Amino acid sequence: MNNTNLVQRDLAVLWHPCTQMQDHEWLPLIPIRRGEGIWLEDYDGKRYLDAVSSWWVNLFGHANPRINAAIKAQLDNLEHVILAGFSHAPVIELSERLIQLTPQGLNKVFYADNGSAGVEVALKMSCHYWRNLGKPNKTKFVTLSNSYHGETLGALAVGDVSLYKDIYHPLLMTTITAPSPDCYWREPGETCKDYSLRRLADLEAILAAQTETISAIIVEPLVQCAGGMRMYHPSYLTGLRKLCDKYQVLMIADEIAVGFGRTGTLFACEQAQISPDFMCLSKGLTGGYLPLCAVVTTEQIYQAFYAEYATQLAFLHSHSYTGNPLACQAALATLDIFAQDNIIESNKVLAQVMAEATAPLKDHPHVAEVRQTGMILAIEMVQDKAKRIPYPWQERRGLRVYQHALENGVLLRPLGNVIYFMPPYIITSEQIRWITDIAILGIEKATHN
Ligand code: PMP
Repeated sequence: MNNTNLVQRDLAVLWHPCTQMQDHEWLPLIPIRRGEGIWLEDYDGKRYLDAVSSWWVNLFGHANPRINAAIKAQLDNLEHVILAGFSHAPVIELSERLIQLTPQGLNKVFYADNGSAGVEVALKMSCHYWRNLGKPNKTKFVTLSNSYHGETLGALAVGDVSLYKDIYHPLLMTTITAPSPDCYWREPGETCKDYSLRRLADLEAILAAQTETISAIIVEPLVQCAGGMRMYHPSYLTGLRKLCDKYQVLMIADEIAVGFGRTGTLFACEQAQISPDFMCLSKGLTGGYLPLCAVVTTEQIYQAFYAEYATQLAFLHSHSYTGNPLACQAALATLDIFAQDNIIESNKVLAQVMAEATAPLKDHPHVAEVRQTGMILAIEMVQDKAKRIPYPWQERRGLRVYQHALENGVLLRPLGNVIYFMPPYIITSEQIRWITDIAILGIEKATHN
C-alpha cells in the first residue's frame, strides 16, 4: 500500500468532512499509516507535525503509551454497555473526577457521544428546566455573533459562522444574536477589557427586553475557535454570569474546544472565576482518542427533573454510545497525565515560546494581529493592515500556507485567512520554533501578490 493507491481507493468511496471533494483533483489527500507522539506518517513514509492536534482533539500525542494501555486494559473487560438502567466503574470514576475538576457547583454529569450532541443536550435541558419550573415560554437562546457550537441542527442554529450556517437557514430555529466581545474589533486605543465590557452592555439590553422568553445563552469561553480563533477578555464572562443571575437566564459554557488546558487554565471559565449552569466538554476529554462529550450541570437543574415517573418531568434523551467505557478510560488516563505531569504549569513555558517565536510576525505588512490565549496562537492575514481589510475568501490565501506547510512536513490547517497553532502539549520549544519558521515562509508566499 502506498499513498497513490490508497488515495485512488479513498476517492472512489469516501466523502470527507468539511471538504469540497473536487479540491482533491489537485490538492493531495494524505492517507496516514501511523501516528507517534506529535508525528503523523503517511504511506510513503513522509512525516507531518500535527500542529492543530487533529482538529483540536489530541493533547498528549498520537499512540500515547499511557492512554493506549488504559484502553487495552478496558477492552478485555467491557467494551460497552447500555447506560440506561446499567452503569460501570469507568463512567462513575470519570464523573466524580470531572465534578472535582470543574468549577464549584457543577455536580451532575450527562454524557453524549460527540460535541454537537452534547450541545443539543445542554439546549434541550435548559429549555426543559424552565418548562418543569412552570415557565414554558422560556424557549429562546441567545448566541454571540461569530460563534460556533457544532453542525447538528440545534447546534448550528446557535452558531453564527455563515460559511457553515447560511445554506441551512430554513431548517434552523430562530435565535437571538448578541454582538461578540471579540477584541479584534476594539477601537484604536481601547483596551480589550473595555471593549468586552462595552459588548456586555449590548447583551444586557437584549436580556432586559426579552428575559420572559429566553432560556439560556451559550458561549465559547475566551476563544471563538471555529470563528477564526477570535479572543476576548475574561471580564465578559464574569459580567455575563452576573447578567444571567439578574435576568434568570441559564449560562451554557461550551468548552468543547477550549477546555483541558487550551487557554492556559484547565477550563477557560476559571479565568473569569465563574461557574456556568452547563459546561460542555469533549475533544480533549479523551486525549483525542475516542468521541465522548460530558455535559456537567448543577444540582439545581438536576432536581427540576427529579420526581415521580408519572409527572413526566424526566429528561428522556439518549445516545446509543452514552458513557462508552473505552472512551471513559481514555479520559481517565488523560486526567492522570494532567495530574502526574503538572501539564498546566509546563504549558506556560511552551506558551511563552510560542509568543516569542511569532513576535516578528506582528510587523509583517499583511498580518493584522498575532493573538494568543494560553496554548492557542493565531495569526490573522489581511490585505490591508491599517484598515484591517481581509483578503477575499475566494483567494484562499490560508490554503497556500497549508500547502507550503505540508510540503515542509507540518499540518497547519487554517481557518480562512487565519493561521493558528493549537498543538498537542508534548510539542517541544525547538519544534515550536521550527513550525513558526515554516509558517512565516508560508505567510510570505501566500501574501506575496
Ligand atoms: N463546540 C465547539 C466550540 C467546537 O469547536 C466544536 C467542534 N469544532 C463543537 C462544539 C462540535 O463538536 P463535534 O465536532 O464533536 O460535534
